[in-house]
Amino acid sequence: MKYSELTEIYEKLGKTSKRLAKTELLSEFLKKVHGDETEEVVLLLQGRVFPAWDEREIGVASQLMAKAIAIASGIELAAVQKEWKKTGDLGDASENLLKHKRQHTLAHSDLTVKKVFDNLRKLAAESGSGSVDRKLQLIAELLTSAGGSEAKYITRTILGELRVGIGEGALRDAIVWANFMKVKDATVAKAAKRGLSGLSSVRMVPGKPVKVMLALKAETAAEALETCGRPAAAEFKYDGFRLEITKDENGNIGLYTRRLENVLEQFPDVAEYVRKHVKGKSFILDAEAVGYDRKTGKYLPFQKISQRIKRKYDIQKTAEELPVEVNVFDVLAYNGKNLINEPFKKRRELLHKIIQSAKRKIRPAESIVTDKEEEIEKFFEEARAAGNEGLMVKNLDAPYKPGARVGHMLKFKKTAENLDLAIIGAEWGEGKRSSWLSSYDLACRKGSELLEIGKASTGLKEKKEEGLSFEEMTKLLKPLITEEHGRHVKVKPKVVIEVGYEEIQKSPSYSSGYALRFPRVVRNRTDEKGVHDINTLQEVERLYRQQKKSS
Ligand code: AMP
Repeated sequence: MKYSELTEIYEKLGKTSKRLAKTELLSEFLKKVHGDETEEVVLLLQGRVFPAWDEREIGVASQLMAKAIAIASGIELAAVQKEWKKTGDLGDASENLLKHKRQHTLAHSDLTVKKVFDNLRKLAAESGSGSVDRKLQLIAELLTSAGGSEAKYITRTILGELRVGIGEGALRDAIVWANFMKVKDATVAKAAKRGLSGLSSVRMVPGKPVKVMLALKAETAAEALETCGRPAAAEFKYDGFRLEITKDENGNIGLYTRRLENVLEQFPDVAEYVRKHVKGKSFILDAEAVGYDRKTGKYLPFQKISQRIKRKYDIQKTAEELPVEVNVFDVLAYNGKNLINEPFKKRRELLHKIIQSAKRKIRPAESIVTDKEEEIEKFFEEARAAGNEGLMVKNLDAPYKPGARVGHMLKFKKTAENLDLAIIGAEWGEGKRSSWLSSYDLACRKGSELLEIGKASTGLKEKKEEGLSFEEMTKLLKPLITEEHGRHVKVKPKVVIEVGYEEIQKSPSYSSGYALRFPRVVRNRTDEKGVHDINTLQEVERLYRQQKKSS
């Protein structure tokens, strides 16, 4: 495939901020991709040449990139820098400088996706003496045969700033849609072709997750029912962690987190519950595990139970101290039968048949079926009183769609919602906190642009045993620093955190036009959410209006 075909899709994707439109564009595009190029294309679409779990990096700083542009365009470095300053973006600068400098007379260059991908991968492998020159050569080789738009995207990809706004979710949806599907070879694509059993085999490969079904939000009970149809199922929305439970024909149990790490070893208690209380030869269940306090019986915050996920020793003891309750809310396959295309009511019915409820161990998620708003409201209050976040409202006729954020499953939470925001800067602390980045600049997004909305410095712990610590945060952020000015640093936006607050206020101090009152860091969500998944300015505005209404 020509690289220009890829840049065309980047351009189109950059022009829409609608997730659905993006997914459609991508899925159409993916159908055209040839089997043996799928991996390259899927990675380049995400602005990378290595998968997320691979630690290799392209490792080219902007100054070196500017030099390569100078070489390829035959222009003085100073002129490149001037254009860079003028446009504020090295990608745009390279487009402007290279569009007139084409050495080819063809309308489109012959640069292929493979060539771009190979050269970028070679960049990552370069180190040691002479590597700077070799890197320059590898980049210049691409740029001299690139058109303007191609140069722009090559530059951005090298710098890790593609910014066309393709979230992992949209991409996976597109892969699944394009599936059943013309694409070959990429692991997910290939597996999706084989239907659910294929997808579940992908699930088994750590680091290559297939996203579980995600939910949209509803503001009111009426809206929830309208979207999901009447009657709908309402379930407690447990605030724990997603667990996919599998059992194969040989009786082997698998337990996978949302990131698809296998946590079987860490949760022998859960495996035991599954063995004892779920009937069936083989199955895939979708569930939420919540930790609770043995003494008070109350649910525990995710932070506490997350210790169990990482635990490598004293597993039995930790299981005793931090018990979890597993609430199963879906069944995707049963005794060799793929159920994702069955209506939810059937899956739900089966679920209740096969799980023998065991108090505080495993059970079907608490749920009702109703067509009345008042009942949803009442059930919501029950859910809250029992220490849950709110409700999930689900369409009874809907199939299970892996990776889809679809209108047949809605979150219903009435309280001021926490925001998921990206960290774009930070400040070194003072006194005993001086070795930690202890205050974080937060941003929401508008399309792919990040807008500041405040700073948070509370919610983190000084000791790591107590939860998310300053030290842990510093470790995450330090490698992302791009600029330092005194105690303040700018960081590459990669870390996503959930932020709680008292109120959203209008504020001229931040580029979003809003500020958060008493912001506090609730948890690190980087493993689950990318920068493209953070809350948008539009959502902030909606919450602001809502809060005014209710005050
Ligand atoms: P959120 O992460 O806020 O977008 O909400 C979706 C998450 O809620 C899912 O990924 C599950 O981990 C969790 N969840 C809790 N209870 C349920 C339920 N009854 N049905 C579906 N998801 C649930």
